Amino acid sequence: MVEIRKDYFTERLSVILPDRGLKPGQVIPSKPEKCNFCAGNEEMTPPADLVLVKRGDTLLKQTDSEGDIIKNWSVRIFPAKNPVVTPSAPPSYGEPPHYSEPAVGYHYVLVASPKHDQPFSKIDIEQWTNILASLQDKVRWLYSQKGVSYVLVFVNSEKEGTPTSVHPSIQIVTTPRVPPAVEEEADTVQASLNDLGICPMCQVVGTETGGPRQILATDFFIAFAPWVSTHPFEFWIYPKRHMTSILKLSQKEMMDLALMLRSTLGGMSKALDSQTFTMVFHSSSEKKTTKQIHWHIEIYPKKTHWGGLELGGGIYTSDVSPEGAAQVLGAASRKELAQLVGIR
Ligand SMILES: [Zn+2]
Ligand SMILES: [Zn+2]
Repeated sequence: MVEIRKDYFTERLSVILPDRGLKPGQVIPSKPEKCNFCAGNEEMTPPADLVLVKRGDTLLKQTDSEGDIIKNWSVRIFPAKNPVVTPSAPPSYGEPPHYSEPAVGYHYVLVASPKHDQPFSKIDIEQWTNILASLQDKVRWLYSQKGVSYVLVFVNSEKEGTPTSVHPSIQIVTTPRVPPAVEEEADTVQASLNDLGICPMCQVVGTETGGPRQILATDFFIAFAPWVSTHPFEFWIYPKRHMTSILKLSQKEMMDLALMLRSTLGGMSKALDSQTFTMVFHSSSEKKTTKQIHWHIEIYPKKTHWGGLELGGGIYTSDVSPEGAAQVLGAASRKELAQLVGIR
């Protein structure tokens, strides 16, 4: 079964993944000895659609073809081995209250570095810029495909339940409808734009700039701990100007975002002594009929156990205030930034 189910009456969605033929009590075998994302193991993945290669001072965009796998790459993007959605899901629909639709879409993996032991917090600014440029390219292409309503971009820096390091990678998943978390933001932003001509997210950027929750500001971006954090040390990165999508980033802004990501993730990993985080990109859908948001990145450094208040009430408890988190992350991120700018 590969389907998307919608809740009886709320907008909540779930994806039912194909079962892997496991019998009760059987566990999924532990990870293979070889990492299929590592340089040299390209044959272990499907051929890559986009391979960024550096030749001298120039960057080339190439594609793997049958029998010709490109080596010495900087970034690789290929279809996921265990996709959450698939271009060929069976066309079966369910009627409410058991609404379901085929989980049609594309699931790609962007391998962010040829090196296994290079966490995101240590990837340099040039490589971060390459990652963002490749991402922009793939997202643009995906929006030109039929049946794609949204392109969700995220990082899970560790595999559930495994303490071993994972190869730095970004997941790119398209969905046939806009995810509820983005839709909720878009409803609010669009209502304010229609009624008042003001983007509430631009107002938030203004309010948090220079305040007790600011973590770092660069030329074009600001990082801050949100007023309501669902996880301890959660922080958001917003472009200072109103911008609806990562597709609108200029080269200059992309380099600045690379500096922001490197500084805050570097600061976070040192301050919290951890490489674990979840990162999501929230952009407006590029499909013409949809509402817009002010695009941004949300980072969740620490997972917490959600109890009754959170699961049952939608009320989040935290033993770290956003202001306290901003102090800790701010000091560490500013130190990273100073070092990076110093050595450039
Ligand atoms: Zn690896
Ligand atoms: Zn805005």
